[in-house]
Amino acid sequence: MRPRIFGLENEYGLIFSPNGRIYLPMEKVLGYIFEGLIPNSWPSNAFLVNGARFYQDTGCHPEYSTPECDSIVDLVVHDKAGERLLEACLPAAEERLREEGLSGEIYIFKNNTDSLGNTYGCHENYLMRRDVDFWKVTEQLIPFFVTRQIFSGSGKVLKVSGKPQFFISQRAQHIHEKTSSSTTSSRSIINTRDEPHADAEKYRRLHIIVGDSNMSEFATYLKIGTAALVLSMIEDGFNVTGMELEDPVKAIREISRDPTLKKKIRLDDGRQMSAIEIQRAYLERAREYLGTQPYDEVMDDVLSKWAVVLDRLDEDPMQLVREVDWVAKRHLIQSFVEKKGCGWDDPRVFLMDLQFHDVKRTRGLYYLMESKGMVERIVGEESIQRAMSVPPQTTRAKVRGDFIRFARAKNRSYTVDWTYLKLNGYWEETILCMDPFSPINRRVEELVSQVAGLRFYR
Ligand code: ATP
Ligand code: MG
Ligand code: MG
Repeated sequence: MRPRIFGLENEYGLIFSPNGRIYLPMEKVLGYIFEGLIPNSWPSNAFLVNGARFYQDTGCHPEYSTPECDSIVDLVVHDKAGERLLEACLPAAEERLREEGLSGEIYIFKNNTDSLGNTYGCHENYLMRRDVDFWKVTEQLIPFFVTRQIFSGSGKVLKVSGKPQFFISQRAQHIHEKTSSSTTSSRSIINTRDEPHADAEKYRRLHIIVGDSNMSEFATYLKIGTAALVLSMIEDGFNVTGMELEDPVKAIREISRDPTLKKKIRLDDGRQMSAIEIQRAYLERAREYLGTQPYDEVMDDVLSKWAVVLDRLDEDPMQLVREVDWVAKRHLIQSFVEKKGCGWDDPRVFLMDLQFHDVKRTRGLYYLMESKGMVERIVGEESIQRAMSVPPQTTRAKVRGDFIRFARAKNRSYTVDWTYLKLNGYWEETILCMDPFSPINRRVEELVSQVAGLRFYR
Protein backbone atom coordinates (compact mmCIF):
# COMPACT_ATOMS: atom_id res chain seq x y z
CA MET A 1 0.00 0.00 0.00
CA ARG A 2 1.21 3.45 -0.84
CA PRO A 3 2.14 5.74 2.06
CA ARG A 4 -0.42 8.30 3.09
CA ILE A 5 -0.67 11.43 5.25
CA PHE A 6 -3.42 11.66 7.86
CA GLY A 7 -4.68 14.48 10.05
CA LEU A 8 -7.55 14.77 12.50
CA GLU A 9 -9.27 18.01 13.57
CA ASN A 10 -11.46 18.27 16.64
CA GLU A 11 -13.62 21.18 17.66
CA TYR A 12 -14.30 21.09 21.39
CA GLY A 13 -17.28 22.24 23.40
CA LEU A 14 -16.46 24.82 26.07
CA ILE A 15 -18.46 25.71 29.19
CA PHE A 16 -17.65 27.95 32.13
CA SER A 17 -19.64 27.17 35.22
CA PRO A 18 -19.27 30.15 37.56
CA ASN A 19 -19.82 30.09 41.30
CA GLY A 20 -22.56 32.65 41.54
CA ARG A 21 -24.39 34.65 38.93
CA ILE A 22 -22.05 36.46 36.64
CA TYR A 23 -21.86 37.08 32.95
CA LEU A 24 -18.62 36.20 31.24
CA PRO A 25 -17.98 36.26 27.50
CA MET A 26 -16.67 32.87 26.41
CA GLU A 27 -13.98 34.60 24.31
CA LYS A 28 -12.35 35.55 27.57
CA VAL A 29 -12.30 31.96 28.84
CA LEU A 30 -10.96 30.80 25.51
CA GLY A 31 -8.32 33.52 25.62
CA TYR A 32 -7.01 32.25 28.94
CA ILE A 33 -6.86 28.72 27.57
CA PHE A 34 -4.84 30.02 24.62
CA GLU A 35 -2.44 31.71 27.02
CA GLY A 36 -1.59 28.33 28.48
CA LEU A 37 -0.66 26.96 25.10
CA ILE A 38 1.04 29.96 23.56
CA PRO A 39 2.68 31.98 26.32
CA ASN A 40 2.72 35.79 26.22
CA SER A 41 0.27 36.14 23.43
CA TRP A 42 -3.38 36.08 22.64
CA PRO A 43 -3.71 35.03 19.05
CA SER A 44 -6.67 33.07 17.83
CA ASN A 45 -4.66 30.87 15.52
CA ALA A 46 -1.33 29.30 16.26
CA PHE A 47 0.88 26.38 15.39
CA LEU A 48 2.55 24.59 18.29
CA VAL A 49 5.99 23.04 18.71
CA ASN A 50 4.52 19.60 18.10
CA GLY A 51 3.46 20.76 14.62
CA ALA A 52 -0.24 20.93 15.47
CA ARG A 53 -2.60 23.84 14.90
CA PHE A 54 -4.71 25.30 17.67
CA TYR A 55 -7.31 27.93 16.93
CA GLN A 56 -10.68 29.37 17.64
CA ASP A 57 -13.40 28.17 15.39
CA THR A 58 -16.73 29.90 14.79
CA GLY A 59 -18.99 29.80 17.82
CA CYS A 60 -16.15 29.96 20.32
CA HIS A 61 -14.99 26.40 20.05
CA PRO A 62 -11.32 25.67 20.60
CA GLU A 63 -10.10 23.53 17.72
CA TYR A 64 -7.06 21.30 17.69
CA SER A 65 -5.76 19.95 14.38
CA THR A 66 -3.15 17.23 14.67
CA PRO A 67 0.12 17.55 12.83
CA GLU A 68 0.51 15.47 9.68
CA CYS A 69 0.97 11.81 10.58
CA ASP A 70 1.98 8.98 8.27
CA SER A 71 0.74 6.21 10.52
CA ILE A 72 -2.59 5.54 12.15
CA VAL A 73 -1.01 4.80 15.50
CA ASP A 74 0.74 8.21 15.43
CA LEU A 75 -2.58 9.81 14.60
CA VAL A 76 -4.27 8.23 17.63
CA VAL A 77 -1.38 9.47 19.79
CA HIS A 78 -1.55 13.02 18.45
CA ASP A 79 -5.33 13.19 18.68
CA LYS A 80 -5.05 12.30 22.38
CA ALA A 81 -2.17 14.77 22.81
CA GLY A 82 -4.62 17.50 21.74
CA GLU A 83 -6.97 16.50 24.54
CA ARG A 84 -4.15 16.47 27.07
CA LEU A 85 -2.92 19.92 26.00
CA LEU A 86 -6.36 21.37 26.56
CA GLU A 87 -6.73 19.55 29.86
CA ALA A 88 -3.37 20.93 30.97
CA CYS A 89 -4.57 24.51 30.33
CA LEU A 90 -7.49 24.26 32.71
CA PRO A 91 -5.86 25.02 36.09
CA ALA A 92 -4.02 28.16 34.93
CA ALA A 93 -7.05 29.46 33.03
CA GLU A 94 -9.28 28.94 36.09
CA GLU A 95 -6.66 30.69 38.22
CA ARG A 96 -6.59 33.68 35.85
CA LEU A 97 -10.37 33.94 36.13
CA ARG A 98 -10.18 33.66 39.91
CA GLU A 99 -7.73 36.58 39.97
CA GLU A 100 -10.49 38.62 38.36
CA GLY A 101 -12.95 37.51 40.98
CA LEU A 102 -14.59 34.98 38.68
CA SER A 103 -14.28 31.70 40.43
CA GLY A 104 -15.72 28.62 38.78
CA GLU A 105 -14.88 25.65 36.67
CA ILE A 106 -14.08 25.39 32.98
CA TYR A 107 -15.26 22.30 31.14
CA ILE A 108 -13.91 21.15 27.79
CA PHE A 109 -15.83 18.44 25.95
CA LYS A 110 -14.65 16.37 23.03
CA ASN A 111 -18.12 15.94 21.54
CA ASN A 112 -20.08 17.27 18.58
CA THR A 113 -23.31 18.81 19.84
CA ASP A 114 -24.31 21.33 22.49
CA SER A 115 -27.53 21.62 24.46
CA LEU A 116 -28.90 24.18 21.98
CA GLY A 117 -28.68 21.73 19.11
CA ASN A 118 -25.59 23.26 17.49
CA THR A 119 -23.03 20.92 16.02
CA TYR A 120 -19.27 21.15 15.68
CA GLY A 121 -17.07 18.74 13.92
CA CYS A 122 -14.38 16.16 13.85
CA HIS A 123 -12.69 16.32 10.45
CA GLU A 124 -10.62 13.52 9.01
CA ASN A 125 -7.97 14.27 6.40
CA TYR A 126 -6.53 11.74 3.99
CA LEU A 127 -3.96 12.62 1.37
CA MET A 128 -4.97 11.31 -2.06
CA ARG A 129 -3.17 11.27 -5.37
CA ARG A 130 -4.55 13.80 -7.85
CA ASP A 131 -4.48 11.31 -10.72
CA VAL A 132 -7.16 9.05 -9.27
CA ASP A 133 -10.73 9.84 -10.24
CA PHE A 134 -12.00 11.66 -7.13
CA TRP A 135 -15.70 11.32 -7.97
CA LYS A 136 -15.46 7.64 -8.76
CA VAL A 137 -13.67 6.99 -5.49
CA THR A 138 -15.96 9.09 -3.33
CA GLU A 139 -19.10 7.57 -4.86
CA GLN A 140 -17.87 4.18 -3.64
CA LEU A 141 -16.92 5.56 -0.23
CA ILE A 142 -20.36 6.94 0.60
CA PRO A 143 -22.03 3.66 1.70
CA PHE A 144 -18.96 2.95 3.81
CA PHE A 145 -19.09 6.33 5.59
CA VAL A 146 -22.86 6.10 6.08
CA THR A 147 -22.60 2.74 7.85
CA ARG A 148 -19.34 2.87 9.81
CA GLN A 149 -21.05 4.82 12.62
CA ILE A 150 -22.02 1.42 14.03
CA PHE A 151 -18.51 1.23 15.47
CA SER A 152 -17.35 4.85 15.32
CA GLY A 153 -20.43 6.67 16.64
CA SER A 154 -20.19 8.34 20.04
CA GLY A 155 -23.83 8.06 21.03
CA LYS A 156 -26.37 10.70 21.98
CA VAL A 157 -29.57 10.87 24.00
CA LEU A 158 -32.03 13.17 22.27
CA LYS A 159 -35.64 14.00 22.91
CA VAL A 160 -37.82 13.22 19.93
CA SER A 161 -41.43 14.40 20.28
CA GLY A 162 -40.84 14.73 24.00
CA LYS A 163 -39.45 11.20 24.41
CA PRO A 164 -35.78 10.40 25.05
CA GLN A 165 -34.19 8.30 22.35
CA PHE A 166 -30.67 6.89 22.01
CA PHE A 167 -28.84 7.66 18.77
CA ILE A 168 -25.59 5.90 17.91
CA SER A 169 -24.04 8.96 16.26
CA GLN A 170 -23.81 12.58 17.42
CA ARG A 171 -23.26 13.96 13.98
CA ALA A 172 -25.61 11.92 11.76
CA GLN A 173 -28.71 14.05 12.40
CA HIS A 174 -26.81 17.12 11.20
CA ILE A 175 -25.85 15.77 7.80
CA HIS A 176 -27.92 17.22 4.99
CA GLU A 177 -26.21 16.35 1.72
CA LYS A 178 -24.29 13.64 -0.03
CA THR A 179 -21.52 15.93 -1.23
CA SER A 180 -20.90 19.63 -0.74
CA SER A 181 -18.05 22.07 -0.51
CA SER A 182 -19.21 23.68 2.73
CA THR A 183 -18.33 22.47 6.24
CA THR A 184 -20.74 24.69 8.12
CA SER A 185 -23.97 25.42 6.22
CA SER A 186 -24.83 22.26 4.30
CA ARG A 187 -22.85 19.52 6.00
CA SER A 188 -22.26 16.54 3.80
CA ILE A 189 -20.95 12.99 3.81
CA ILE A 190 -18.11 13.91 1.45
CA ASN A 191 -16.71 17.44 1.63
CA THR A 192 -15.45 18.46 -1.78
CA ARG A 193 -13.49 21.59 -0.85
CA ASP A 194 -10.21 21.27 -2.66
CA GLU A 195 -7.38 22.50 -0.41
CA PRO A 196 -4.59 19.95 -0.60
CA HIS A 197 -2.08 21.70 1.73
CA ALA A 198 0.48 20.18 -0.65
CA ASP A 199 1.50 20.30 -4.31
CA ALA A 200 -1.93 20.57 -5.93
CA GLU A 201 -0.77 18.98 -9.16
CA LYS A 202 0.15 15.79 -7.35
CA TYR A 203 -2.30 15.61 -4.47
CA ARG A 204 -5.77 16.16 -3.14
CA ARG A 205 -6.82 16.06 0.48
CA LEU A 206 -9.94 14.06 1.18
CA HIS A 207 -11.74 16.02 3.90
CA ILE A 208 -14.37 13.99 5.75
CA ILE A 209 -16.67 15.89 8.10
CA VAL A 210 -19.32 13.26 8.71
CA GLY A 211 -17.75 11.47 11.69
CA ASP A 212 -18.10 11.84 15.45
CA SER A 213 -15.25 12.76 17.78
CA ASN A 214 -14.11 9.70 19.67
CA MET A 215 -13.00 9.28 23.24
CA SER A 216 -12.08 5.63 22.60
CA GLU A 217 -8.60 5.16 21.18
CA PHE A 218 -9.81 1.91 19.70
CA ALA A 219 -12.66 3.67 17.85
CA THR A 220 -10.31 6.31 16.40
CA TYR A 221 -7.87 3.62 15.33
CA LEU A 222 -10.56 1.53 13.66
CA LYS A 223 -12.34 4.53 12.14
CA ILE A 224 -9.23 5.88 10.45
CA GLY A 225 -7.71 2.47 9.78
CA THR A 226 -10.74 1.07 7.96
CA ALA A 227 -11.22 4.31 5.98
CA ALA A 228 -7.56 4.26 4.92
CA LEU A 229 -7.82 0.63 3.90
CA VAL A 230 -11.02 1.11 1.92
CA LEU A 231 -9.65 4.24 0.29
CA SER A 232 -6.46 2.46 -0.77
CA MET A 233 -8.29 -0.51 -2.18
CA ILE A 234 -10.62 1.65 -4.28
CA GLU A 235 -7.72 3.79 -5.47
CA ASP A 236 -5.99 0.60 -6.55
CA GLY A 237 -8.96 -0.53 -8.59
CA PHE A 238 -10.57 -2.94 -6.10
CA ASN A 239 -13.94 -1.39 -6.71
CA VAL A 240 -16.98 -1.85 -4.54
CA THR A 241 -19.87 -1.67 -6.95
CA GLY A 242 -23.58 -2.23 -6.53
CA MET A 243 -23.63 -0.73 -3.03
CA GLU A 244 -25.08 2.66 -3.96
CA LEU A 245 -27.73 3.71 -1.48
CA GLU A 246 -31.09 5.00 -2.59
CA ASP A 247 -30.92 7.94 -0.18
CA PRO A 248 -27.62 8.16 1.77
CA VAL A 249 -28.70 11.11 3.93
CA LYS A 250 -31.88 9.37 5.01
CA ALA A 251 -29.89 6.17 5.58
CA ILE A 252 -27.30 7.78 7.84
CA ARG A 253 -30.06 9.16 10.03
CA GLU A 254 -32.02 5.93 10.13
CA ILE A 255 -29.00 3.87 11.09
CA SER A 256 -28.17 6.32 13.84
CA ARG A 257 -31.64 5.94 15.31
CA ASP A 258 -31.44 2.17 15.68
CA PRO A 259 -29.09 0.84 18.40
CA THR A 260 -30.25 -2.72 17.66
CA LEU A 261 -28.53 -2.36 14.25
CA LYS A 262 -31.23 -4.40 12.57
CA LYS A 263 -32.65 -1.63 10.37
CA LYS A 264 -32.46 -2.43 6.66
CA ILE A 265 -31.43 0.29 4.25
CA ARG A 266 -32.64 0.54 0.66
CA LEU A 267 -30.06 0.30 -2.06
CA ASP A 268 -30.37 1.85 -5.50
CA ASP A 269 -31.01 -1.55 -7.06
CA GLY A 270 -33.95 -2.21 -4.73
CA ARG A 271 -32.12 -4.57 -2.34
CA GLN A 272 -32.32 -3.99 1.41
CA MET A 273 -29.26 -4.42 3.62
CA SER A 274 -28.36 -3.66 7.23
CA ALA A 275 -25.38 -1.45 8.11
CA ILE A 276 -23.50 -4.55 9.31
CA GLU A 277 -24.11 -6.31 5.99
CA ILE A 278 -22.89 -3.29 4.04
CA GLN A 279 -19.77 -3.04 6.21
CA ARG A 280 -19.13 -6.74 5.66
CA ALA A 281 -19.20 -6.25 1.90
CA TYR A 282 -16.40 -3.69 2.28
CA LEU A 283 -14.54 -5.91 4.73
CA GLU A 284 -14.53 -8.86 2.32
CA ARG A 285 -13.30 -6.70 -0.55
CA ALA A 286 -10.58 -5.28 1.72
CA ARG A 287 -9.52 -8.80 2.67
CA GLU A 288 -9.12 -9.70 -1.01
CA TYR A 289 -7.20 -6.50 -1.60
CA LEU A 290 -4.82 -6.96 1.33
CA GLY A 291 -4.08 -10.46 0.06
CA THR A 292 -2.52 -8.89 -3.02
CA GLN A 293 -0.37 -6.42 -1.05
CA PRO A 294 2.96 -6.78 0.75
CA TYR A 295 2.38 -7.58 4.44
CA ASP A 296 1.45 -4.49 6.45
CA GLU A 297 1.26 -5.11 10.19
CA VAL A 298 -1.11 -2.26 11.01
CA MET A 299 -3.50 -2.89 8.11
CA ASP A 300 -3.54 -6.57 8.95
CA ASP A 301 -4.47 -5.68 12.52
CA VAL A 302 -7.14 -3.21 11.35
CA LEU A 303 -8.69 -5.90 9.17
CA SER A 304 -8.87 -8.46 11.95
CA LYS A 305 -10.23 -5.97 14.51
CA TRP A 306 -12.82 -4.81 11.96
CA ALA A 307 -13.98 -8.41 11.40
CA VAL A 308 -14.25 -9.13 15.13
CA VAL A 309 -16.12 -5.89 15.77
CA LEU A 310 -18.69 -6.60 13.03
CA ASP A 311 -19.26 -10.11 14.39
CA ARG A 312 -19.81 -8.82 17.90
CA LEU A 313 -22.09 -6.04 16.71
CA ASP A 314 -24.12 -8.68 14.96
CA GLU A 315 -24.36 -10.96 18.02
CA ASP A 316 -24.89 -8.27 20.64
CA PRO A 317 -23.45 -4.76 20.37
CA MET A 318 -23.27 -4.46 24.16
CA GLN A 319 -20.25 -6.80 24.05
CA LEU A 320 -18.23 -3.82 22.79
CA VAL A 321 -18.31 -1.67 25.93
CA ARG A 322 -14.49 -1.61 25.97
CA GLU A 323 -14.09 -0.59 22.35
CA VAL A 324 -16.98 1.49 21.02
CA ASP A 325 -17.98 4.89 22.42
CA TRP A 326 -21.73 4.66 21.87
CA VAL A 327 -21.83 1.25 23.49
CA ALA A 328 -19.78 2.42 26.49
CA LYS A 329 -22.03 5.45 26.94
CA ARG A 330 -25.19 3.39 26.60
CA HIS A 331 -23.89 0.89 29.13
CA LEU A 332 -23.09 3.66 31.65
CA ILE A 333 -26.49 5.29 31.30
CA GLN A 334 -28.36 1.98 31.32
CA SER A 335 -26.62 0.94 34.55
CA PHE A 336 -27.38 4.32 36.11
CA VAL A 337 -31.05 4.22 35.17
CA GLU A 338 -31.39 0.71 36.59
CA LYS A 339 -29.57 1.58 39.79
CA LYS A 340 -31.54 4.75 40.43
CA GLY A 341 -34.82 3.41 39.14
CA CYS A 342 -35.28 6.57 37.10
CA GLY A 343 -36.29 7.08 33.48
CA TRP A 344 -34.15 7.96 30.46
CA ASP A 345 -35.74 11.40 30.60
CA ASP A 346 -34.08 12.11 33.97
CA PRO A 347 -31.96 15.31 33.66
CA ARG A 348 -28.97 13.38 35.03
CA VAL A 349 -29.04 11.17 31.95
CA PHE A 350 -28.47 14.18 29.68
CA LEU A 351 -25.72 15.34 31.98
CA MET A 352 -24.01 11.94 31.80
CA ASP A 353 -24.22 12.08 28.01
CA LEU A 354 -22.21 15.31 28.19
CA GLN A 355 -19.84 14.26 30.98
CA PHE A 356 -18.77 11.22 29.00
CA HIS A 357 -16.77 13.64 26.80
CA ASP A 358 -15.10 15.74 29.52
CA VAL A 359 -11.36 15.81 28.76
CA LYS A 360 -10.44 16.32 32.41
CA ARG A 361 -9.37 12.84 33.34
CA THR A 362 -10.29 13.08 37.02
CA ARG A 363 -13.81 14.13 36.09
CA GLY A 364 -14.90 12.77 32.70
CA LEU A 365 -16.99 9.60 32.60
CA TYR A 366 -15.02 8.02 29.77
CA TYR A 367 -11.87 8.53 31.83
CA LEU A 368 -13.56 7.13 34.89
CA MET A 369 -14.02 3.93 32.89
CA GLU A 370 -10.44 4.11 31.67
CA SER A 371 -9.10 4.47 35.22
CA LYS A 372 -11.00 1.31 36.16
CA GLY A 373 -9.43 -0.57 33.26
CA MET A 374 -12.81 -0.79 31.52
CA VAL A 375 -11.70 0.47 28.08
CA GLU A 376 -9.35 -0.88 25.46
CA ARG A 377 -6.27 1.27 24.83
CA ILE A 378 -4.20 1.38 21.67
CA VAL A 379 -1.30 3.62 22.69
CA GLY A 380 0.68 4.27 25.85
CA GLU A 381 0.22 7.36 28.01
CA GLU A 382 3.97 8.06 27.71
CA SER A 383 3.78 8.47 23.96
CA ILE A 384 0.77 10.79 24.34
CA GLN A 385 2.66 12.96 26.83
CA ARG A 386 5.63 13.11 24.48
CA ALA A 387 3.45 14.08 21.53
CA MET A 388 2.30 17.16 23.45
CA SER A 389 5.64 18.74 22.54
CA VAL A 390 7.28 16.46 19.98
CA PRO A 391 5.99 16.28 16.38
CA PRO A 392 5.82 13.08 14.34
CA GLN A 393 9.42 12.53 13.23
CA THR A 394 8.63 11.18 9.76
CA THR A 395 6.55 13.97 8.18
CA ARG A 396 6.70 17.69 7.41
CA ALA A 397 5.42 18.33 10.95
CA LYS A 398 8.99 17.73 12.18
CA VAL A 399 10.25 20.64 10.06
CA ARG A 400 7.50 22.89 11.37
CA GLY A 401 8.19 21.90 14.97
CA ASP A 402 11.93 22.57 14.59
CA PHE A 403 11.25 25.93 12.99
CA ILE A 404 8.89 27.05 15.76
CA ARG A 405 11.38 25.93 18.40
CA PHE A 406 14.06 27.97 16.66
CA ALA A 407 11.85 31.08 16.37
CA ARG A 408 10.87 30.87 20.01
CA ALA A 409 14.46 30.35 21.16
CA LYS A 410 15.46 33.45 19.20
CA ASN A 411 12.38 35.32 20.36
CA ARG A 412 11.38 36.02 16.79
CA SER A 413 7.85 36.47 15.61
CA TYR A 414 6.84 34.06 12.86
CA THR A 415 4.04 33.13 10.52
CA VAL A 416 3.41 29.48 9.82
CA ASP A 417 0.88 27.49 7.86
CA TRP A 418 0.70 23.86 6.72
CA THR A 419 2.84 24.58 3.65
CA TYR A 420 5.14 27.44 4.65
CA LEU A 421 7.25 28.92 7.42
CA LYS A 422 8.30 32.54 7.69
CA LEU A 423 10.16 34.68 10.18
CA ASN A 424 8.47 38.06 10.29
CA GLY A 425 10.55 40.97 8.98
CA TYR A 426 10.58 42.25 5.43
CA TRP A 427 13.97 40.80 4.56
CA GLU A 428 13.12 37.24 5.52
CA GLU A 429 12.46 34.55 2.98
CA THR A 430 9.48 32.23 3.03
CA ILE A 431 10.40 28.59 3.43
CA LEU A 432 8.04 26.44 1.41
CA CYS A 433 7.22 22.91 2.60
CA MET A 434 5.00 21.52 -0.09
CA ASP A 435 5.87 17.87 0.51
CA PRO A 436 3.97 16.56 3.56
CA PHE A 437 6.06 13.37 3.52
CA SER A 438 9.37 15.17 3.97
CA PRO A 439 10.72 15.55 7.52
CA ILE A 440 13.86 17.29 6.23
CA ASN A 441 14.37 20.88 5.15
CA ARG A 442 17.90 22.15 4.57
CA ARG A 443 17.10 25.78 5.41
CA VAL A 444 15.43 24.89 8.70
CA GLU A 445 18.36 22.65 9.60
CA GLU A 446 20.68 25.63 9.08
CA LEU A 447 18.55 27.82 11.31
CA VAL A 448 18.32 25.20 14.05
CA SER A 449 22.07 24.64 14.02
CA GLN A 450 22.52 28.36 14.75
CA VAL A 451 20.72 27.96 18.04
CA ALA A 452 22.62 24.87 19.02
CA GLY A 453 25.84 26.81 18.21
CA LEU A 454 24.80 29.70 20.37
CA ARG A 455 24.11 27.41 23.21
CA PHE A 456 27.49 25.70 22.72
CA TYR A 457 29.47 28.96 23.02
CA ARG A 458 27.63 30.21 26.05
P1 ATP B 1 -11.12 23.91 8.43
O1 ATP B 1 -10.63 24.04 9.83
O2 ATP B 1 -11.85 25.11 7.99
O3 ATP B 1 -11.81 22.64 8.18
P2 ATP B 1 -8.80 22.77 7.22
O4 ATP B 1 -9.53 21.55 6.84
O5 ATP B 1 -7.73 23.26 6.29
O6 ATP B 1 -9.81 23.93 7.52
P3 ATP B 1 -7.10 22.62 9.62
O7 ATP B 1 -7.81 22.77 10.92
O8 ATP B 1 -6.12 23.65 9.26
O9 ATP B 1 -8.23 22.42 8.58
O10 ATP B 1 -6.42 21.18 9.64
C1 ATP B 1 -5.87 20.55 8.53
C2 ATP B 1 -5.61 19.10 8.88
O11 ATP B 1 -5.12 18.43 7.70
C3 ATP B 1 -4.55 18.87 9.95
O12 ATP B 1 -4.93 17.84 10.80
C4 ATP B 1 -3.29 18.47 9.14
O13 ATP B 1 -2.43 17.62 9.84
C5 ATP B 1 -3.90 17.77 7.97
N1 ATP B 1 -3.10 17.90 6.74
C6 ATP B 1 -2.25 18.88 6.38
N2 ATP B 1 -1.75 18.68 5.17
C7 ATP B 1 -2.31 17.52 4.74
C8 ATP B 1 -2.20 16.77 3.53
N3 ATP B 1 -1.45 17.20 2.54
N4 ATP B 1 -2.92 15.63 3.44
C9 ATP B 1 -3.71 15.21 4.44
N5 ATP B 1 -3.84 15.88 5.58
C10 ATP B 1 -3.17 17.02 5.73
MG1 MG C 1 -9.98 22.81 11.01
MG1 MG D 1 -11.14 20.80 8.36
